[in-house]
Amino acid sequence: MENVKGLQCISCGRVFPADDRVFTCPECGEKGILDVIYDYDYIKKNISRETLSQNRDYSIWRYLPFLPVQKESRRTPLKVGWTPLYYPQKLMEVLGLSRLFLKDDGLNPTASLKDRASAIAVVKAGEEGFETVACSSTGNAASSLAGNAAAMGLKSVIFVPQRAPQGKVAQLLIFGATVISVQGNYEDAFHLSAQAIAHWGWYNRNAAINPYLVEGKKTVTLEICEQLNWQVPDWAIFSVGDGCTIAGAWKGFKDLYQAGFIDKLPKMAGVQAEGCCPITRAFLSGNPLEPMEENTLADSIAVGVPRNPDKALNAIRESKGTMINVTDEEILQAMKLLGHTCGVFGEPAGVTGLAGLKKLVAGGLISRDELVVTCITGNGLKDVNNAVKAAGAPIKVDPDLGELKKKLAGLVRF
Ligand SMILES: *Cc1c(COP(=O)(O)O)cnc(C)c1O
Ligand SMILES: [Zn+2]
Repeated sequence: MENVKGLQCISCGRVFPADDRVFTCPECGEKGILDVIYDYDYIKKNISRETLSQNRDYSIWRYLPFLPVQKESRRTPLKVGWTPLYYPQKLMEVLGLSRLFLKDDGLNPTASLKDRASAIAVVKAGEEGFETVACSSTGNAASSLAGNAAAMGLKSVIFVPQRAPQGKVAQLLIFGATVISVQGNYEDAFHLSAQAIAHWGWYNRNAAINPYLVEGKKTVTLEICEQLNWQVPDWAIFSVGDGCTIAGAWKGFKDLYQAGFIDKLPKMAGVQAEGCCPITRAFLSGNPLEPMEENTLADSIAVGVPRNPDKALNAIRESKGTMINVTDEEILQAMKLLGHTCGVFGEPAGVTGLAGLKKLVAGGLISRDELVVTCITGNGLKDVNNAVKAAGAPIKVDPDLGELKKKLAGLVRF
């Protein structure tokens, strides 16, 4: 990879060659998460605002010089990335904002932002000659890995916690994954997968551990900046579980800045569920991270022992941003608000960023004229049970117009 200089430990700063099969720093162990270091001169020579404006590859691969894969590697045939960025008038009125953009990442091929990471994972697995890829996941990392693996002709083994919603498990099975439902929480699933991966020697897609995956996730902010014609938002807001998504989003902004595509950086706001908010607690208290129970209906961010808290906390601190919590009730409200005002259907973790944004505006931290971007990270069809909880029941009538008139009177005026 001509564009990559090496992998740097975020804990001790040592740099390792990028072609080694090391995932974490051998000196620091699990704390030694690695970061991909690029040659920005190489990037500047190989991609520019102008070349991008001519590029008709509307997927994450339009940013190839920013990605840690070999140019000629086989890629997932699925169309990952280049999801729409909406300017949602009605929602802005409700929130009291004048410059809000909404990135709908539920429109990725397996319906979540995780496709961006899994697309990189299957390319790396292919580059290194693996036939089987594996991960543990609260659901979306799993379904995206299984889908992209199926498209590449790779086998996948997926470990999910007991509570993974049916829609996501159904996706896994349809994509032909070997699905292990671990009777325990995400932490249990993570540990069992780590042991199994070591035992069978599969390709490890566990996001925090694998330094390349955050690089896939960063394409979300590369796209946002290009779609905004290289304006930089004042605030970028993401929901937070393991912390890889917000870390990746921040890395995207920083890489664009280093390569001279943008001239400032945004503040990052991370949003967690009140029932499972170890990263918010660590941020607010300044104390080391303490594990929490996984007590929220937003299953994709129900991560009691986050795997990438340091990268996430760095993103928040470096950007002078903030962390905030929302209740499950506020998440359900945000699902409804998003659907009613935008016609976009997000899963609970998918709208948690929006729920946080609403709170940040109400609390005065974000003001009306600031340029704000938030991302809907996953599609609501994955978790229909919670959607029904948010939206309530339909109006039941017999097939009779008279009765319909009676039932509608006082309910809706057309
Ligand atoms: C994984 C996920 C997140 C959070 O990403 P982390 O890297 O775990 O912080 C948010 N929303 C959805 C829909 C996800 O699948
Ligand atoms: Zn180290």
